[in-house]
Amino acid sequence: MIDLKSLVRPNIWNLVPYSCARDEFKGRPASVFLDANENPYNAPINRYPDPLQTELKTMLSPMKQVPVDNMFLGNGSDEAIDVVFRVFCEPKEDNVVAIAPSYGMYQVCAEVNDVEYRTVLLNSDFQVSADAILAACDEHTKVVFLCSPNNPTGNDLLRSEVERILNEFAGIVVLDEAYSDFSSHRPFRLDLDSYPNLIVLNTMSKAWGAAAIRLGMAFADKAIIELMNRVKYPYNVNQLTQERAMETLRQTEQFQQRLSVILHERDHMLPAFAELPICKHVYPTDANFFLARVTDADRIYNYLVDRGIVVRNRNRVVLCGQCLRITIGTPQENCALLAALRNYTA
Ligand code: PMP
Repeated sequence: MIDLKSLVRPNIWNLVPYSCARDEFKGRPASVFLDANENPYNAPINRYPDPLQTELKTMLSPMKQVPVDNMFLGNGSDEAIDVVFRVFCEPKEDNVVAIAPSYGMYQVCAEVNDVEYRTVLLNSDFQVSADAILAACDEHTKVVFLCSPNNPTGNDLLRSEVERILNEFAGIVVLDEAYSDFSSHRPFRLDLDSYPNLIVLNTMSKAWGAAAIRLGMAFADKAIIELMNRVKYPYNVNQLTQERAMETLRQTEQFQQRLSVILHERDHMLPAFAELPICKHVYPTDANFFLARVTDADRIYNYLVDRGIVVRNRNRVVLCGQCLRITIGTPQENCALLAALRNYTA
């Protein structure tokens, strides 16, 4: 068990959350709603959405194999990241520890919340060392941020190292599994029961192809979810997003079909990219993108932009010198990239 009270900011522990009009009558039948100062006209968008998104969570629950009460939904997983800081980290006092390189929003949220951001470099295989993470923690470390498959490196973190961090760190471990649908490894989402200090992040922005609707998820122990729900804005996921998410989640066949095309394309892209004269190394990936070391990242990036092809230049990211991060696109888009790079002259 973890001592949650000692990890949560005292003001949040004692917070009386905003009570929505709809929350107060909940459960009884009603047809005349004069409680929330809404406009009675312009249905169906005149009413506030469900603040806890119960219908959407009920649909997600069997798909994710996570009970509704262990689920937080947010305006992208970026919201969940920010809410974690606001629940656990006292500005100017607490710190978080994260792997580097990793997804940039952990640091941005730390800085916005005035929380020290400590980084632990991955090794040359882009793997995490539990010993190094634990050594970077002190009594003010509230959260460890891990990302698997990791962005921008693409690889899954070793399960044994993640398990050691979960077992030996006495604070919260956020494990961002935004890309886990592309991986063949078992997601930690399925092992929530074993780790009361684990928060897993998921999103509809990647494998579900719905980045525009902004729907992110956090899965954790009920007590953690309850704290996150207290801190979020009352109507953080709008009605249109909730409806479109449910519509998208019903398209399971299309989801599977597109996912398998992307994985098939990934299998082809990696060796084809490795053959290019500009390529020095392609790193293994468990995500829908790969990192590649090239002869001159800045120049190749600009060459591609001039031809209307945009990849991500990671040249200035720690451990990623001369690296480009490339998303797997449609077969035509992938061909266009390879064709352009075959024509590149140094
Ligand atoms: N986590 C990781 C690792 C990401 O790479 C991204 C987006 N690039 C996100 C989270 C953000 O997801 P969302 O669109 O749900 O905010």
